[in-house]
Amino acid sequence: MNLGEIRNWVFDMDGTLTVAVHDFAAIRVALDIPAEHDILTHLAALPAAEAAAKHAWLLEHERDLAIASTAAAGAVELVRELAGRGCRLGILTRNARELAHVTLEAIGLADCFAVEHILGRDEAEPKPSPDGLLKIARAWGVAPGELVMVGDYRFDLDCGRAAGARTVLVNLPDNPWPALVDWHAADCRALQVLLG
Ligand SMILES: [Mg+2]
Repeated sequence: MNLGEIRNWVFDMDGTLTVAVHDFAAIRVALDIPAEHDILTHLAALPAAEAAAKHAWLLEHERDLAIASTAAAGAVELVRELAGRGCRLGILTRNARELAHVTLEAIGLADCFAVEHILGRDEAEPKPSPDGLLKIARAWGVAPGELVMVGDYRFDLDCGRAAGARTVLVNLPDNPWPALVDWHAADCRALQVLLG
């Protein structure tokens, strides 16, 4: 299939549409999370009060990052072209939906994504679970195989594969996970070229 034929596009946000700024090592230190643990999985296993307090800290920390977001190379042009072609557009992020909206405002893309098609960590099981992607497919009334998941990290690709969607890796010069990737582009500008 030609990438330009795909009508249903779901994007990871941080590091895909924006320049990556999260310092996950520093977040783990601040929240007393062991270095090898996944942050959201770790928080989900804590007693409720401790989990709530740490989620609140994380939300405030990420709010500061969201307000200061900058667009990744070519991201705004790519999304605007897809919107102009009439493609359906969604976001699937491990960030919070509210902060995804703040981020999209900051990079000038908020008008391209309907809020109900922005799924954050409270609307779906976090990636690498396919839950959010399957929810978006149902909401759009399309088969998962008609979706493409665009991301910059292994979780995005695992999520896409588990859902039965197609996958695009961007913003890494090399492709460390060829078995998980249907298309690889150095950045969103190169991805826009692949649309033809
Ligand atoms: Mg990312």
